[in-house]
Amino acid sequence: MTRSHPVNTPSVSIVIPVYNEQDGLASLFAQLYPVLDALGCSYELLLIDDGSRDRSAALLREQYQRRPDVTRVVLLAGNFGQHNAILAGFERARGNMLITLDADLQNPPHEIPRLVEQINAGHDYVGTVRTGRQDSLWRVLPSRLLNVLRERTTRIHITDQGCMLRAYGRNVVDAINDCPEMNTFIPALGYLFARSPVEIPVAHAEREAGESKYSLYSLLRLNFDLMTGFSIVPLQIYSVLGVSISLLSLLFVVYMGIRRLVIGPEVEGVFTLFGIAFFLIGVVLAGVGLLGEYVGRIYAQVRARPRYRIQAVLSGPQSADTPLDAP
Ligand code: UDP
Ligand code: MG
Repeated sequence: MTRSHPVNTPSVSIVIPVYNEQDGLASLFAQLYPVLDALGCSYELLLIDDGSRDRSAALLREQYQRRPDVTRVVLLAGNFGQHNAILAGFERARGNMLITLDADLQNPPHEIPRLVEQINAGHDYVGTVRTGRQDSLWRVLPSRLLNVLRERTTRIHITDQGCMLRAYGRNVVDAINDCPEMNTFIPALGYLFARSPVEIPVAHAEREAGESKYSLYSLLRLNFDLMTGFSIVPLQIYSVLGVSISLLSLLFVVYMGIRRLVIGPEVEGVFTLFGIAFFLIGVVLAGVGLLGEYVGRIYAQVRARPRYRIQAVLSGPQSADTPLDAP
């Protein structure tokens, strides 16, 4: 059911992942559409439901009925995670530029025109830095720490990795779509392919409704994805650490040998030895765990399961690829 000739391509594609956001969607739409209608260029809004268990999917269907001219809805068949949901949008977006934002209104829609401006000015990647970040301290502190870690171990230089309000040029979108990786972090992937990246400050609001979908655990996993997906420096640090410790131990053994010959055997300092041993066991265990992080991701990649499954796509006659699927 593909069309033989391309239909009108919108200038801007907006991609929003939605997971259990029923309480916030109405005000998201109320703020978003006026901004988009005022853009002065053609646009499409891709709403990706990531297997919500509340009324979100129903609300997206309603919204599609209201604005079928510019709205497309993709309903995933399960919860595949924020980044996979966004990728489902990337693969369907037809715009010359693509803008992602969260559904919870933490990224104010009124910032969108400023991102469009930057792409029109010739940049192919627009990052954002949240000014006056409205998150609790326990979210801000770990993310600062992980930022520093990422800056040191990868080539990705993003001031504020957590903010999803970003714009990508068509070349970057195509490059991201060519990547088959399972666990990824889209802003970093986009940055990798950008020829002319730029960052602008944007406002940040508190979540309007509902709760954050990220527990400390899933946040940690995401950051491991970021680190393991873009760098093998952590593994190399372990190699260097291993070699240094072996060399030091060798020196220590030589010293103990000479000492034994000159002064005689010694039995004191046993607990010091315990201390050193426990420390080294800790180092080894952490190394094994780190190796596991990489191996687990290699395993997921080798299994090559689809990143997401689609249940239904609601897309009007203006769309090139997809007819209206029955749910
Ligand atoms: N999200 C998603 N799938 C998930 C978790 C989150 O599509 O498994 C969406 C969520 O609906 C929101 C965005 O990703 O639009 C960011 O999620 P959230 O606001 O919970 O993250 P936080 O702002 O706390 O980092
Ligand atoms: Mg949020």
